[in-house]
Amino acid sequence: MNLEICTNYIVNPDTGLINSAVQVPSPNQDARPQGVKPELILIHGISLPPGEFGGAAVKSLFTNSLDWTTHPYYTQIKDLLVSAHLFIPRQGQVVQFVPLDRRAWHAGKSSFQGRESCNDFSIGIELEGTDEVPYTDEQYTRLILIVDAIFDAYPEMSIRKIAGHCDVSPRRKTDPGPAFDWLRMYDELKTRVEAPKNK
Ligand SMILES: [Zn+2]
Repeated sequence: MNLEICTNYIVNPDTGLINSAVQVPSPNQDARPQGVKPELILIHGISLPPGEFGGAAVKSLFTNSLDWTTHPYYTQIKDLLVSAHLFIPRQGQVVQFVPLDRRAWHAGKSSFQGRESCNDFSIGIELEGTDEVPYTDEQYTRLILIVDAIFDAYPEMSIRKIAGHCDVSPRRKTDPGPAFDWLRMYDELKTRVEAPKNK
């Protein structure tokens, strides 16, 4: 395993913040409905401009500071107020925009197993990527570690409650796309979750 990758993500249950994630608070958040806890993990893919990796535009979008004039595509997303709890870039540190116990604005109109408005009860994780380009080994590694930490913090969560944006908004969204290897994620996650832990 790459030693540069943090292997000890922990969710602080009091703050909903993940240690070792870079904290970049987004204004695009609010309280979850009363009594509702995170029960679902939604995997997304995003890159801005589409297909370009490594820039700061996703961070800017989620903090309402994207300069719309810098790329023609941005006029299509102008004035969008969106966020996700977490962003996992191709390489580099995980960024947290919204505490996990708060509601991030990532899913839009959506439904999971007949339950509408997935933002209410989900944690949104954005992977930097596109539908067609394989996600990186680092991203899978970090994703597994983060999801495992989320499972530890929220007992309502389980391996059966992970979905893609494409699953909950099937006519509107395609991310994280066919490039995302669900079997790999499940295999690595199962291994991780079942491994003995020193905590
Ligand atoms: Zn999405």
